[in-house]
Amino acid sequence: MLIDCHAHLDDYGAELDEVIARARAAGLVHVVAIGQWPMAKARATVDLARRDRSLLSATAGIHPHDAAQATEDDFAELERLCAGPDVVAVGECGLDFHYDRSPRDVQRKVFRRQLQLAKKLRRPAMVHTREADLETAAILSEELGPDGGVIHCFTSDWTAAQRYLALGMFLSFSGVLTFKNADPVREAAEKAPLDRLLVETDSPFLAPVPHRGKRNEPALVAVTAARLAELRKLPLAELERATTANARAALRLPG
Ligand SMILES: [Zn+2]
Ligand SMILES: [Zn+2]
Repeated sequence: MLIDCHAHLDDYGAELDEVIARARAAGLVHVVAIGQWPMAKARATVDLARRDRSLLSATAGIHPHDAAQATEDDFAELERLCAGPDVVAVGECGLDFHYDRSPRDVQRKVFRRQLQLAKKLRRPAMVHTREADLETAAILSEELGPDGGVIHCFTSDWTAAQRYLALGMFLSFSGVLTFKNADPVREAAEKAPLDRLLVETDSPFLAPVPHRGKRNEPALVAVTAARLAELRKLPLAELERATTANARAALRLPG
């Protein structure tokens, strides 16, 4: 009974049906499919979710990598998509100062704009942040709406986690939680309140150990959940119940 609250399903091509079947077989009850710029791709993800509402919901957003390429038409399309019934969150949006694929000023502007859209449409925000915790928290403190949001693929430390928790954010843990060098991430996962924890795959990236380096898929969220249960010293069933209830609360998912 698990929810993968962040997966990119557009890269599986003809294998997608098998990937979805394996997710169901692994006990997943829901998968949140991330719809990303270019907007045609985001639209395709929203359509995919619409065809299988029993398992899928979608988001729509402009990743910080792509911030500099988004046009006014794209923002208009983003608003139209996010206003629809199949989009549960705006994003992923945020700041990525590791790759810096868009100028930082543009990243900040596009992040703020999407948070304002989330606030206007009463949707939570799906937030991506890398090497930008202080600025991400500062912008969130100014722009985050009443529906809050999720720090997806949390890869920082307990200090950063506390800042996001103080803003009411949920923290979503990915396969990174299983990586050898991820002690600070594990410390945050151990110390954060249970009712703020989510699990995700960020498929097809970041497959958990022992699958690291292979293509990831939603079924493998079970590996991350098992590691999180171990860290929290909780029975797996209890951890699954908690993260699933949290994902439903954070993203207002059905069920
Ligand atoms: Zn991301
Ligand atoms: Zn992602």
